[in-house]
Amino acid sequence: MDEALIPRLRAIVGDRGILTGEDVRARSCDPFRAVPPLGPVIVRPADTGEVAAVVTLCATQSQRIVTHGGRTGVAGGAYAGPEEVVVSLERMSRIEEVCGVSQLAVVEAGVTIEALQSHVAEQGLFYPVDLGSKGSATIGGTIATNAGGNRVLRWGMTRQNLLGLEAVLPDGTVVCAMNRLVKNNTGYDLKHLFVGSEGTLGIVTRAVVRLVPAPASQAVAFVSVASQDGLLALLGRARRLSTLSAFEVMWPDYYELVAESGTGRRPVEPGRAAYVLIEAMGYNERLDQQVFDEFLSEAYDVGLIMEGVTAASKKQIAELWRVREAAEVIVREMSPFVSFDISVDVRKVEAFVARAKDLLNEAYPMVRTVTFGHLGDNNIHIGAHVGRDTVAQEHRVESLVFRALREFDGAITAEHGIGQLKRGFLPEHKSAGEMTAMRRIRDALDPGRLLNHEVLF
Ligand SMILES: Cc1cc2nc3c(=O)[nH]c(=O)nc-3n(C[C@H](O)[C@H](O)[C@H](O)COP(=O)(O)OP(=O)(O)OC[C@H]3O[C@@H](n4cnc5c(N)ncnc54)[C@H](O)[C@@H]3O)c2cc1C
Repeated sequence: MDEALIPRLRAIVGDRGILTGEDVRARSCDPFRAVPPLGPVIVRPADTGEVAAVVTLCATQSQRIVTHGGRTGVAGGAYAGPEEVVVSLERMSRIEEVCGVSQLAVVEAGVTIEALQSHVAEQGLFYPVDLGSKGSATIGGTIATNAGGNRVLRWGMTRQNLLGLEAVLPDGTVVCAMNRLVKNNTGYDLKHLFVGSEGTLGIVTRAVVRLVPAPASQAVAFVSVASQDGLLALLGRARRLSTLSAFEVMWPDYYELVAESGTGRRPVEPGRAAYVLIEAMGYNERLDQQVFDEFLSEAYDVGLIMEGVTAASKKQIAELWRVREAAEVIVREMSPFVSFDISVDVRKVEAFVARAKDLLNEAYPMVRTVTFGHLGDNNIHIGAHVGRDTVAQEHRVESLVFRALREFDGAITAEHGIGQLKRGFLPEHKSAGEMTAMRRIRDALDPGRLLNHEVLF
């Protein structure tokens, strides 16, 4: 990029708003690998006006921009090349309003999920989009990727928890669609254009999000099951619980790795077909626990549960969730690995997983995998390590798994998005008409492809 632009950017955002040199190089655009931005500058606007001024300046110079939230995205959507300016929303982290009556919060896009959750908890409220990365993942990033997480089964993805937003278009125009109403059919509901657009149509600067009353009860059990049929039967029964908030499945390859990791995560004996963390959240502690316990004992009596433990305290709840959220163990034991977040009809999940692993085994006899996911909403994560040159083999590994996925009518990304890393596969998994419509929308809003140029298509 033309470095003469840096003083002009500095004039907009001030000294605090500009990072250069080592401050840029020390960052990573990827949570699991060191991938620094390759350009010379990170711009950190303090408000929407500054974002709009930065984007307008860049547009007049045909300068490409990559937007950064918490940089926890795992699809390479935040990777920035040498010619690109990074715009980070990290200084836009104000929680402007929390309304308990309307059950909403008005926030800037750089607020992290955890900061919002902690803040609204003081008023007995909860923001239900809940991810393992919530300490760093931002409202803007989760909107851009339509993030899901652990409680989609109960409260939906980001799209379902968003009332309105504000975004800066690639030419600097500010679109203020800060709707606060649940029902509002006044023209196009533009927020949906930006949800899941992966930063290609605009920079999200503020949002109005839905809140729910903070659940008063949380019951968690960790169980093992004997077969995949039993797993689906258990899911069917669990769905009858009106309080069900998570049904997180771990395959033996995942559970055995975590149970043997020496990190004290071994709630049940290994050696079963699958392991499930079941969580229920409600508003009547005594009744909710009673219903949950009845569900568990019935499932045990009919042979759906082989072994199980229930949490008796908040500490034990956290310990059981740590088994499911053992990203650091996977990183330590499996790196480098190719990670998948795919969607498959629950009835086909087992056949798909077997087929994908067969294809990987044929190509890479030494392959190691971990398989886990939010089964209740069709979402499976697979991590595959095929040796030291896993990174070099990434495309081939993906091709094999995606080939299996096509056979089972699955989706190549359930929640992480296409980013830059899966971009080559998009046309094979979208119809020609969908690709045309997506191109026309992008061309209309960003004819110069200035925002997140390498993302999506
Ligand atoms: C341990 C771990 C667990 C995770 N668990 C889940 C999970 O359960 N469910 C899930 O869905 N994801 C999960 N993720 C992935 C990641 O946290 C999400 O994709 C998250 O939404 C990214 O938010 P971010 O703020 O970090 O965005 P970034 O990583 O900074 O950016 C992601 C994409 O959004 C764009 N973007 C960021 N901010 C904006 C903005 N303000 N306006 C426009 N575009 C923007 C970027 O350009 C990029 O393309 C996990 C990641 C990790 C590391």
